[in-house]
Amino acid sequence: MEKAFSELPETAKEKARFKMPVFESFIQGNQTIIQNFTDVTGALRRDEKHLMKFLSKELATPADLDGRRLILKGKHRDKTLNGRLEKYVKEYVLCTECGKPDTNLLTQGGVNFMRCEACGARSPVSVIK
Ligand SMILES: [Zn+2]
Repeated sequence: MEKAFSELPETAKEKARFKMPVFESFIQGNQTIIQNFTDVTGALRRDEKHLMKFLSKELATPADLDGRRLILKGKHRDKTLNGRLEKYVKEYVLCTECGKPDTNLLTQGGVNFMRCEACGARSPVSVIK
């Protein structure tokens, strides 16, 4: 049994190496502040507005960028926010073929898709309205 990990295929090891960023948030009055928002988008190499739109839609609440922070209307628990972040990463960051985070979002011919720099795979992604 103890040999199990070393026998994992390369792709599984790469997956294990990806470190999921975590939102640090607090509630102030009737709003929720994510204080390291741009650190997270930087780590994921994603546009701040793209993740903002995603969260705003998922939580059905308005969101505003404020420097490094994101301000959301209403009270949202850390656990909820990070659950949505995980969903975003699965949908818009990790390659569906090899599971690596080295991907870009592109638009071509009106279609949005994700292209992986590591394996070259392309997969369509849904547009956030
Ligand atoms: Zn890939």
